[in-house]
Amino acid sequence: MITDLRSDTFTKPSPEMLEAMFTAKVGDDVFGEDPSVNALESMAADIFGMEAAVFCPSGTMTNQVAIKCHTQPGEEIICDKLSHVYIYEGGGIAFNSGCQVKAIEGQRGRISSEQVLEAINPSDIHKAKTSLVSLENTANRGGGSCYDFEEILKIKECCTENGLKLHLDGARLWNAIVANEETPQQYGEVFDSISICLSKGLGAPVGSLLLGNAGFIQKARRVRKVFGGGMRQAGFLAAAGIFALENNITRLAEDHVHAKQIAEALIKKDFIGKIMPVETNILIFELIDGFTAKSFETAMANEGILCIAISPTQVRMVTHLDVTTEMVNHLISVIKAL
Ligand SMILES: *Cc1c(COP(=O)(O)O)cnc(C)c1O
Repeated sequence: MITDLRSDTFTKPSPEMLEAMFTAKVGDDVFGEDPSVNALESMAADIFGMEAAVFCPSGTMTNQVAIKCHTQPGEEIICDKLSHVYIYEGGGIAFNSGCQVKAIEGQRGRISSEQVLEAINPSDIHKAKTSLVSLENTANRGGGSCYDFEEILKIKECCTENGLKLHLDGARLWNAIVANEETPQQYGEVFDSISICLSKGLGAPVGSLLLGNAGFIQKARRVRKVFGGGMRQAGFLAAAGIFALENNITRLAEDHVHAKQIAEALIKKDFIGKIMPVETNILIFELIDGFTAKSFETAMANEGILCIAISPTQVRMVTHLDVTTEMVNHLISVIKAL
């Protein structure tokens, strides 16, 4: 039995999800004729109370398409310095949109409205025009930390007053919504665009959605095509997404319980230093006293437990729907014995 805690992207489609995929009705989505893709896009837009959505192969693509649609070359984007859009998308902001980033030192991946306000460039010909703020919820490198929704509202106010667009990288937005008993509609009301992943905790094999108003999504479809993301019979994948949205959201609470249980076992050990507060399904902790992140990773792998050293001293574990309670109990006993 292998327990794979490297990422929630390692989930494999369940037999029920595969059945939904096998029986999907499909067509050519580049012609707008795939009924399953169309159903997924309108379903997601409805859930968030937004006008439209476009299905893309990855969350990197939904983020990059959104940034391209919101900006002009030479402009500046405000985001946390640990943001996925900035550090994990291959320099895509510069490559695809010709923009630069004002990277903010936030708190576990989250920035405040004061920091946003301070980061906006004055209208001075020496300065890049600030045009977009990008937030991440939950924040991956923040250890799955969640924004306080009140802070998001303040950031929105600041964006409105300064003519800035507001994008949300919601790769794990469902984890935040479930953990904090929020609703997708409240996010739909605030953001100009939202990217959500179906291939993380929701367990679909492929796919992300970009949400926005009708005009924005029309523009996004053109950019998706230019980026090479126009897919043909993508309904087989969209069917997995529909299944995920219908069946795999509320169960995320179990992943959060599992993550907390693992943290409680770790906290008791002398070789564990700082553990980031566990708010959702991600654990990031520091190794001290004889273990390096790599040697801990190896010790775990010897017991059939896979995790990732994300720095010389830090390890990340991510719980997800293919990590059962039995696996978590085994992991806890392994930690106890170390
Ligand atoms: C995984 C992830 C994405 C998208 O990743 P893809 O692998 O391109 O789907 C975007 N943002 C965050 C925070 C992520 O964790």
